[in-house]
Amino acid sequence: MHDDTRCLGTDDAIAASGFQSLSFPVYRGSTVVFPTVEAYQRRRENFYDGYSYGLYGTPTSRALEARIASLENGTKTLVVPSGLAAIVLTILAVAKAGDQVLIPDSVYDPVRTLSDNFLSFLGIQASYYDPLIGGRIAPLLNERVKLVLVESPGSATMEIQDMAAIAGAAQANGTLVAVDNTWATPLRFKPLERDTDFSISAISKYFAGHSDVLMGSVTVRDEALYRRLRDVSRYLGYGVSPEDCALVLRGIETLSVRLDRVEANALKIAKWLEGRPEVVKVLHPALPSHPGHAIWQRDFSGSSGLFSVILQPWTRPQLALAIEALEFFCIGASWGGTKSIVVVMDPPPVRTATRTVEQGPLLRISVGLEHVDDLLLDLEKAFGMLEPKAELFEPPIRLEI
Ligand SMILES: *Cc1c(COP(=O)(O)O)cnc(C)c1O
Repeated sequence: MHDDTRCLGTDDAIAASGFQSLSFPVYRGSTVVFPTVEAYQRRRENFYDGYSYGLYGTPTSRALEARIASLENGTKTLVVPSGLAAIVLTILAVAKAGDQVLIPDSVYDPVRTLSDNFLSFLGIQASYYDPLIGGRIAPLLNERVKLVLVESPGSATMEIQDMAAIAGAAQANGTLVAVDNTWATPLRFKPLERDTDFSISAISKYFAGHSDVLMGSVTVRDEALYRRLRDVSRYLGYGVSPEDCALVLRGIETLSVRLDRVEANALKIAKWLEGRPEVVKVLHPALPSHPGHAIWQRDFSGSSGLFSVILQPWTRPQLALAIEALEFFCIGASWGGTKSIVVVMDPPPVRTATRTVEQGPLLRISVGLEHVDDLLLDLEKAFGMLEPKAELFEPPIRLEI
């Protein structure tokens, strides 16, 4: 053998040595090789569950999919390049030109951009509904409606949806239901156990958990839906890197302890914020003051680390300075990592099917794994900067005596 060839040699040394470790290996590969011409020609048979081409699955991505499917209590999971890609895939797998999808008004905002600019271009009509609609969704359902998207709590404004009522009405109409379960993760809520068809997760958030991976997942129980998703994923050219899958497999090992910690931290901070004069309202479903608290208690086994706060309008002039003064809360999009993150949304996200209830400013907080006392001290310092300044108010009316 020439060195040129030897340089390319496959190496079975590790397998032969009997080496075993506790971590799942990163299997790289675009080409999957087959022992015979016939096996190659029949590779499509391996497409859904085996290996035919690196883009369609590697042992590392399949291991991750199996791990997520077991947590979701589903049968099959697909991992895709982002949480948004998972939503796009689900919609395109079930809706065609002339069809309609129902989307909650509190949806993750890029889905609104997708719907208004691209689904419309494809002839798929997205209609927004009141996230608190519950069983009143029934009159909106007809044979054109192919999918109801549910996201609970809603992005930024944290509305809790009555998924049982929505799923019941959808089932009666033969309409599929997809749940964006990113906030709860299957450790706090399992959509597929509640008469819904797709459980979608932005793996980029709690599953990956370290703000360094972008990925999404869709999990189902129905084999035909799974195959349809796999097919459309292939048409779209979706694929995920095995390195990223290995990072997520690692992240999942600590998912439960991370969630317990951020849940406890977030609750303590949310309660503290409820007592602050700068705060109009804390939007956290685990607080009894939240209008969706009873439904949250019925459906979810716990909460996570993301919630929002509506601040007094008089905090506006000082707000940016106060947020920038925070030491342990970084400013940035995305959430669900180890470190605390905060974003100011002012005005709060757009609503088209319902009225924007609160004017804002809205502060969205993703609580991390820091010690809660450090976070509280940090917030106390920042909120101290929001104290009303006398000059911002109308001078008191002086009574002439
Ligand atoms: C972040 C997020 C997504 C999108 O996830 P990406 O991986 O960033 O595309 C989808 N849904 C919800 C609720 C999210 O918060």
